[in-house]
Amino acid sequence: MPRDVDNAQCSLPKMLKSSDFVRKYLLGIFLVIGLILLSVFWGFSYRSNTLIKGQLLKQGQAFFEEMVITREWAAKHGGVYVKITPETLVNPYLLKIPGLKVVIKDEDGVDYTLKNPALMTRELSEIANRYGIFRFKITSLNPFNPANKPDLFEQSALTSFNEGKKEYSSFEQENGEVFFRYMAPLVTSKACLQCHAQQGYKEGDVRGGISVSIPATTILKQINVNRYAILFIALGIVGLLYAMIRYVTRIFIGDLNRSEQQLQEMASHDYLTHLFNRRAGYQRISEEMVRSARTEKPLVFILLDIDYFKRLNDSHGHTAGDMVLHQLACTLLEALRDYDIACRYGGEEFLVVAPETSVEQGLKLAERLRATIAGIHFNISTQHISITVSVGVSRMEEHDSIEDAISRADTALYQAKNGGRNRVCVAGESAAAS
Ligand code: GH3
Ligand code: MG
Ligand code: MG
Repeated sequence: MPRDVDNAQCSLPKMLKSSDFVRKYLLGIFLVIGLILLSVFWGFSYRSNTLIKGQLLKQGQAFFEEMVITREWAAKHGGVYVKITPETLVNPYLLKIPGLKVVIKDEDGVDYTLKNPALMTRELSEIANRYGIFRFKITSLNPFNPANKPDLFEQSALTSFNEGKKEYSSFEQENGEVFFRYMAPLVTSKACLQCHAQQGYKEGDVRGGISVSIPATTILKQINVNRYAILFIALGIVGLLYAMIRYVTRIFIGDLNRSEQQLQEMASHDYLTHLFNRRAGYQRISEEMVRSARTEKPLVFILLDIDYFKRLNDSHGHTAGDMVLHQLACTLLEALRDYDIACRYGGEEFLVVAPETSVEQGLKLAERLRATIAGIHFNISTQHISITVSVGVSRMEEHDSIEDAISRADTALYQAKNGGRNRVCVAGESAAAS
């Protein structure tokens, strides 16, 4: 029966482990694709944030422009006069401005009071506050009305305007709510000088500004939900990709390992007999010779050659010859110990090296092999074929190379052939008849 030869017996020069290479290669691909995916998703998240913030900025600018237009209209007409009622009183700060007619009377004796642009802005902002959509406030570092004093954000904005900045915005927290705050400067025009010249302002000076506050808690929450959703999707895709690459790698590496094993098997074993080929056998024998020299244990070389094999081929065919070679190898393996080495030395020649075996034990082993082989009936087609082998035995001497030991076994084998075949000869002894 064919018997598998233990692959571990053969240690060939270390081959490049392609599965490691594939693993690293695919891991590299995964990292690159993963990074690309994460950056794409991060880019999307960043872009949507920028768009939403840009939208808030545009809203802030629009509210500001609306107020500026309203104020410009009022300033162009020197303000407007409205009837004095219990709800509409005279503004005490206007009274401090010299030359300003704060109260007028019509021909029926009804009193009217002035609403200048600053007052209009302030009163409009109070209405806007009530609606709660957005808030705005007129403010200055040098206000007439202390209620128009700037808060911290407005102070920073006004300072930046004095340094030449054209607008200012940021997200600010107030009572647990987030507001997008925008501010732009109010530049003194000719019409403004009527009230503000006394404060020392000239045309073109930054006199103050209007700050706009837009509630942003909800939109920021939505941005965060968006960001987490995008991150979640990106991580999900990366995870899926990882699982797929892992799965493919495992299958691929499994196939690769099997092919590598087959290749190694093919490189070290003879295809017909499944024994070590001569190269792998030599490697294994060299190791055994080193061990034997170190442990001072004897090592025996046994060279077997089938007798008249050419004749067998000629009369039964080459295929029959192959089958005999194969079955002979199986017989050898069955008869040997696990740590004995058997290799196909040549066409119909086999080399056995038996560690920790004296030449006397080697002779007995060779004799046993010869007798076993001679006793086999090879069933080829319907015919029973018998063969014999001639055997040469040598022992490893000190400082021997493989070739030295084999050469002596070959000489002994030659003696066995000359002595009539189907016999065993030991190197240095005369032929023994079988
Ligand atoms: P001797 O007793 O002197 O050894 O005679 P022999 O015929 O065995 O020796 P010889 O060297 O003349 O012939 C060896 C033959 O072995 C020749 C070759 O065709 C045959 N042979 C070598 N390798 C193979 C093989 O793989 N398969 C088969 N079928 N035959 C082989
Ligand atoms: Mg031969
Ligand atoms: Mg022969």
